[in-house]
Amino acid sequence: MTVLRSGSASDVGRVRTVNEDLALESLTLFAVADGMGGHVGGEIAARTAIDTLQAEFARKPSADGLAGAIHEANRAVWGRGHADVDLRGMGTTLTAVALVATDEGDRLVLANVGDSRAYRLHGGDLVQLTTDHSVAEELVARGDLSEEEAAVHPKRHILTRALGVQPEVAVDVWQIVPEEGDRFLLCSDGVSNELPIDQITGVLSETRDPREAAERLVRMANQAGGNDNATVVVVDVMVGEPPSADVAPTHAAEVAAGATSLATGAAAAPEPASPGDTMVAMSPQAPVVPETEPGGGGAVAVNGVGPAVVSRSAPDTTVGRPPTPRRVQPVGARIPRRITFRVVLFLIVLGGLVYAGFATVHWYVNNSYFVGLNHHQIVIYQGRPGGFVGIEPKIVTRTQMTSAQVPSYKVPDLKTGVQESSYQAAKNYVTDLQQSVCSLELQQPPSYCPASTTPTTPPGFTPATSVPAPTATLGMPAGGRVGTSDGRVA
Ligand code: MN
Repeated sequence: MTVLRSGSASDVGRVRTVNEDLALESLTLFAVADGMGGHVGGEIAARTAIDTLQAEFARKPSADGLAGAIHEANRAVWGRGHADVDLRGMGTTLTAVALVATDEGDRLVLANVGDSRAYRLHGGDLVQLTTDHSVAEELVARGDLSEEEAAVHPKRHILTRALGVQPEVAVDVWQIVPEEGDRFLLCSDGVSNELPIDQITGVLSETRDPREAAERLVRMANQAGGNDNATVVVVDVMVGEPPSADVAPTHAAEVAAGATSLATGAAAAPEPASPGDTMVAMSPQAPVVPETEPGGGGAVAVNGVGPAVVSRSAPDTTVGRPPTPRRVQPVGARIPRRITFRVVLFLIVLGGLVYAGFATVHWYVNNSYFVGLNHHQIVIYQGRPGGFVGIEPKIVTRTQMTSAQVPSYKVPDLKTGVQESSYQAAKNYVTDLQQSVCSLELQQPPSYCPASTTPTTPPGFTPATSVPAPTATLGMPAGGRVGTSDGRVA
């Protein structure tokens, strides 16, 4: 089971007049969109993308579903941009992370188009997971530019990929094992351009509350210049897979390299959700992004504990990476199925039903009464004769009558338990029983019988004393002998 906690913040900044960024925070889906396009275009593009993403992912909450939702969002922005002259040319970035259940367990699926970013804080290190789809970053990927040069490159803001500018778009997709204690950061370029990574790392490491961390980062981006809209979503893995030990980079690289060769060897694998998407697996120890493999194969990493998911590289139209789709079945998939949200939900529902069942049984038992015997004494029980699903009947009222006193034909019923619909009904039964006892011609009427009672021998009846009391078989000395087997006074 994976439990996430999140917080977000967004601000227009100190230069712009409109905030074209948009953050999405829900239980399992988080995203940042950075819209662009004159007038109201940027806002509408971001809103259209986020709304479509949310609706489509809700329809299909899976890894494929997330990629599909982004394709759908692209078409929606593209469609609106072409239907309305005022919106022509609008577009948006979209970086989204979603929690999904897979056969291997819960996974975080990360998807990106554009230059908004996703980072992971893991073991104190902040690692950028996404690759900017910008001119500068493409040059870095080709090795023509260093990261430092890219950060100040004049074309660093020019996107090579965005939602809504073409009818189809390639989406980068990653699957990540959600490890307890990991913190994910989604942010627009208004944050990553203003703040150096060590400053972002500091805030994320120091600030426990995700919303507070998001607000601090946005505030700091403003203080650093606030040249652009700044938006942050922080997602914490509160409950997840046990944290993996940190692995030395060299080891991680070896692991990744080994897995890559495996990947090459197993080419006959299922096709990914959408042609053109880049599916990259990420090990908790060493997140591997597409760039780690120059020339364009998908990067693969092996999670020491779980399966390595694999990678598929996409034809990158801008850089011209060779389309070398590869996919490998999970490597070392030995982990048992993990407890997913669905299992948890099932258990909760099951627990509720069991509780409701017990409550019903208790209600039923507590509203059941019967008159029965307790060592020959006639008593009123609450519960069911003989007990019910382990709930023993309990005595609520004792009478002064014994089985020896009542008409003998009633004794078998009393032994079994005479069930009544309510406590009052049970009392009524006892009262009737007492009256029938008192109306008997007893030599020594029981104390509960009215003193005035002077039994007379009804005509045609033999005195009781002349008849052996059948109740004597109960081994109870009768306070007064009673009737015959027909229950009538003898
Ligand atoms: Mn921006």
